[in-house]
Amino acid sequence: MWIRCCALLAVLWLGGQVRADDTQVAAPKKEEPKMLTGRCHCGHITYEVKGPIVNQSYCDCQGCRRATGTLKVPFVTVLPKDLKITGEPKTFRSPSGAKCDAHGVWLFCPDCGTHLFWKNNDGEHMDIFVGTLDDPKVFQPKAE
Ligand SMILES: [Zn+2]
Ligand SMILES: [Zn+2]
Repeated sequence: MWIRCCALLAVLWLGGQVRADDTQVAAPKKEEPKMLTGRCHCGHITYEVKGPIVNQSYCDCQGCRRATGTLKVPFVTVLPKDLKITGEPKTFRSPSGAKCDAHGVWLFCPDCGTHLFWKNNDGEHMDIFVGTLDDPKVFQPKAE
């Protein structure tokens, strides 16, 4: 009986120690928001976002459809100062006059052709095409 009691106490004591350590290790992680990262199809262009998503939605204008080859393009909007791009995307401006063609430029990988970003003309916002994110689950637009 005495031995069993001791063993039980030891287990409780050890359990308490482990839990206390876990809390100490986990505490600083809570403060940091999850960083967005992504890349093009071939990996020449990679990016990370050190800041919040300021908008997220879909666009189905003719410019977005042609640029990406899809009917409805999911995007998240971030501030250009928060976006760090590695590699050199090419820029394309279309004269079509369709919504996003008229208001900004497209940025794509010169090697594999993946469209990753759309930047508006005044440079205040950068849209990231959600399909290029490493974790597309961050895309949670409000119900339309
Ligand atoms: Zn590429
Ligand atoms: Zn568009």
